[in-house]
Amino acid sequence: MSHDIRFLGAALAHIEQDDPETIVRDAIDLCESMAEDASAELMRIRTVAGGRPDEDIDEVKEAYFNSPGKAFEMLMGWNSKNPERTLRKLAKRLDEVFRRIGKGLTVKCRPRYGRQSGRCKGGESLAYQMGNVAGGPKTFHLCPSYFDRGSTSRAAIVAHELCHAIGGFGGTLDLRNSEGEKIYGKRRAMDFARAEPDRACISPENVEQLLYYRERLKDQDEFVPIPDSIWAGLPNFIDAAVDLRDGRRVFFKGRRFWEWDPTSANVSSFRRLGEDGWDGVPREADGALRINQNQVVFYKGPVSVTFDTRPSVNGVVDVGQTPAIGDMFQRLLGVDAAVALPDTDEALLFRNTYVQRLDLNRGRITGSRRIWDVGFSNSGDLYGYYDAVVTGVDDRLHFFTAGHVQRRDIPRFDWG
Ligand SMILES: [Zn+2]
Repeated sequence: MSHDIRFLGAALAHIEQDDPETIVRDAIDLCESMAEDASAELMRIRTVAGGRPDEDIDEVKEAYFNSPGKAFEMLMGWNSKNPERTLRKLAKRLDEVFRRIGKGLTVKCRPRYGRQSGRCKGGESLAYQMGNVAGGPKTFHLCPSYFDRGSTSRAAIVAHELCHAIGGFGGTLDLRNSEGEKIYGKRRAMDFARAEPDRACISPENVEQLLYYRERLKDQDEFVPIPDSIWAGLPNFIDAAVDLRDGRRVFFKGRRFWEWDPTSANVSSFRRLGEDGWDGVPREADGALRINQNQVVFYKGPVSVTFDTRPSVNGVVDVGQTPAIGDMFQRLLGVDAAVALPDTDEALLFRNTYVQRLDLNRGRITGSRRIWDVGFSNSGDLYGYYDAVVTGVDDRLHFFTAGHVQRRDIPRFDWG
């Protein structure tokens, strides 16, 4: 497709990369395929029940929550009041992005300073849109810092800018959250998706982050598909997992469980809860945690069930309450995933983007943070929304999300 890519004033002198025109063309091409792919995925989700999403919304919801990497759940939330309307709005945005690209775009690359610098002046902007009236729905502006971004990010930013020109007179503005902050960046976009899914579906930043994350899932050094990991044999969307003292890792899903055995380093074929072990453990538990040598707690909603693994007991010994997760403003009841850290008396509890430290000796929560603040990262970002977390043989934490595993060093974090 022919795009009109112009370099205004001294723009070329302010861009450090070679061949910036090809960089822009590649970003537009990648954006087009990202948006088309996400749109097709959303179409599959909405028509899963035979093309009448408003009648079979439960099936649509299940397909939406089971999207690869939970991408739609994390970055668009779920509007239970009017799901079909928000899905339609989101679909419109994704469609418009690749349709506009298909018609050809005008991109004005501006210098960092000087008469032609526009909103690039000051050096903080990456890209901007002048709005429907001034710029036209197919025109946007790029600043020199845009070229410093990675290729996936550059492509997703194109979608963001095109979204500004959708939605009638004046276009879609960058939305603000309840604290009045503009929705920029992954963290705000994820919070916004959870708090206001009816608006997240029209937020340019949420569309950008959705496309960026879906593309990142393809990076197999970062997101390892379960079949390519040491956990091959496990299903996608695990409910819960636990590290036992003897080194076995046990994974739970529905009415079934699987064991990873440290001697063979293999995952067993599935067994049935009750018949083959773990009698009395809730089906579809949210998370599981070994709290001492022999006992495992299963969290399911507000209820926690303690199971004693000693052969002499081998059964449920206590039923109690699940701790609330979050900070002083957000109290989220329930646990997505939990893991005891090896050689300590500490455990971590996860719930969407929060992590809490649990002192296993005192049985008390002693710290609460956002996942990205704890320093798990040695490469790339963590997003949260885990199905399960276990320790691997590499002494790292293995985070399961949908069909993928991410591995991270255990953080040495001062929860003080
Ligand atoms: Zn914007």
